[in-house]
Amino acid sequence: MPKWYYLVLWVLLLVGQTVSFKLKAASALLHDIQQLSDELMAGRKTAQPGAELARQYIRQRFSQLGLAALQPDFQHPFHYSIGFAGKQGVNLIATLKGCNKPDRYIVMTAHYDHLGTVAGKVYNGADDNASGVATMLALAALLKTQPCPSYSYLFIATDAEESGLYGAKAFVAEPAVPLQQLMLNINLDMLSRGERANHLYLYGAHSLPGVVDYIKAEDFPVNLKLRHRGKGLRGQNRLDWSNASDHAPFRRAGIPFLFFGVDTHKHYHTPQDDWQNIDPEYLQRMFDSLSQIVLWLDQQPPEWYQAARKTK
Ligand SMILES: [Zn+2]
Repeated sequence: MPKWYYLVLWVLLLVGQTVSFKLKAASALLHDIQQLSDELMAGRKTAQPGAELARQYIRQRFSQLGLAALQPDFQHPFHYSIGFAGKQGVNLIATLKGCNKPDRYIVMTAHYDHLGTVAGKVYNGADDNASGVATMLALAALLKTQPCPSYSYLFIATDAEESGLYGAKAFVAEPAVPLQQLMLNINLDMLSRGERANHLYLYGAHSLPGVVDYIKAEDFPVNLKLRHRGKGLRGQNRLDWSNASDHAPFRRAGIPFLFFGVDTHKHYHTPQDDWQNIDPEYLQRMFDSLSQIVLWLDQQPPEWYQAARKTK
């Protein structure tokens, strides 16, 4: 066979691999969402048996992906209190070592807890936030397909977000990696229900002007909307975006963050937040957009994140 023939074959193989990875990633994404929002998990309420089932599932996925643990079984238990009541939660943390800047970390967070079962109705929380956890797993799989990511990564499935961001607060109070080594927090909370206007929102980019320029210059499969600082409207409610989810404790510690999420929708915090209401095509577009952004962020120099750091 002529030499060019091998070259063509090789190119076809490479293209084929990328396409098949993306398709596989999107179907794994939907599968993870289905599993995490299954009735068996009973809404994954903190300290309930359903949350333990969710942890078993996430730990198994961390292992399958070949991610490393910092503590046995990826488990990082923590205590917190609401009023006088002492409570316990469990974060799960997996890590992936980078090659160029192994001592600098990009931290992804996605809360796995949800509202549980209320008045006999299970709040499955497919969008809030099985979608964020599943996307974090798919992004970990994507970073694994790279020869080696530039930065090291922490993937944190946080607990007790719904009752007051306690998992993220516990991590920042006693970080598994010194805060100085954390370059960026990417927080994923509600990523699957932007089908109506093909929107995905990004909050936090104002501290990273390079990200704003990049987002404005690029075309993404979803319509990526930059949110403004401070308070805004989510559905009918006024909402303070800066404190809306797990990025808040990182922000208060001066660490730059990017918070991705869709707007509220009619199934938000209802028993109808089910995977059957997710449009798989939107899911694919969301994932392709985030993949592009995460791989780009991995290539930016540490000075770039350091400049956005707020010293207290
Ligand atoms: Zn949430």
